[in-house]
Amino acid sequence: MLEIKNLHATVGDKEILKGINLSIKAGEIHAIMGPNGAGKSTLSYVLAGRDGYEVTSGEVLYKGEDLLALSPDERASKGIFLAFQYPVEIPGVASATFLKTAYNAQRKYRGEPEVDAMEFLKLIREKTKELDIKDDMLKRAVNVGFSGGEKKRNEVLQMALLEPDLMLLDETDSGLDIDALKIAADGVNRLRSPERAGLIITHYQRLLDYIVPDFVHVLADGKIVKSGDKSLALELEEKGYAALSAA
Ligand code: ADP
Ligand code: MG
Ligand code: MG
Repeated sequence: MLEIKNLHATVGDKEILKGINLSIKAGEIHAIMGPNGAGKSTLSYVLAGRDGYEVTSGEVLYKGEDLLALSPDERASKGIFLAFQYPVEIPGVASATFLKTAYNAQRKYRGEPEVDAMEFLKLIREKTKELDIKDDMLKRAVNVGFSGGEKKRNEVLQMALLEPDLMLLDETDSGLDIDALKIAADGVNRLRSPERAGLIITHYQRLLDYIVPDFVHVLADGKIVKSGDKSLALELEEKGYAALSAA
């Protein structure tokens, strides 16, 4: 599904990613943990194709294809979903409109007919019901004045609609209450299947109580310094990252 080979990336003139190697197969959920400033968000931005993050060497293959050659839109339409630490606000655009546009863009790209307003309404009602999300949020401008929990619900709804093959989440626990954390986890867990994969980036272990990963990796100073199963997350919670670098 995703193959990251010796990935180096810079922000400005500063090298942040210093040789990342990571292989994610269909059906697997991988978690990346690590101290603040390690480069976790940089990795997610590079995978998203965000401006200002320059890959200086290495490669990333997504389903065997050169991911880095694809535009952010192409990545999304080919089944990659990125949920970010700080969701953007889009004043003047209702959430429902935004979701419909994203959904139809993906369909168009895949050569499927776009859905009309009625069909979309039906679909979104199913999803909101499934996820237990109030649909009054859909009329409001994207993320404008949304609470942390509402932003999270909106994002999970988008993910549920797009049914991505690869879920990339860059999560912080700060500012997220336990309910919002559970919403995010529920969104991921519902989509978990042998055909899909996920990369969950998080600072804290708590999220991994809800999304139980198959593999856990520790990112420190731009490199993966340790990999293990879910017990590694518990070990880090107990001993901290400092113990790891001292080992
Ligand atoms: P993490 O998500 O693991 O906390 P980040 O990827 O956000 O780490 O940051 C890694 C390093 O890159 C930090 O030293 C940070 O200061 C630096 N960095 C990140 N984004 C930028 C930017 N836009 N401009 C300059 N430095 C940045
Ligand atoms: Mg950070
Ligand atoms: Mg971060």
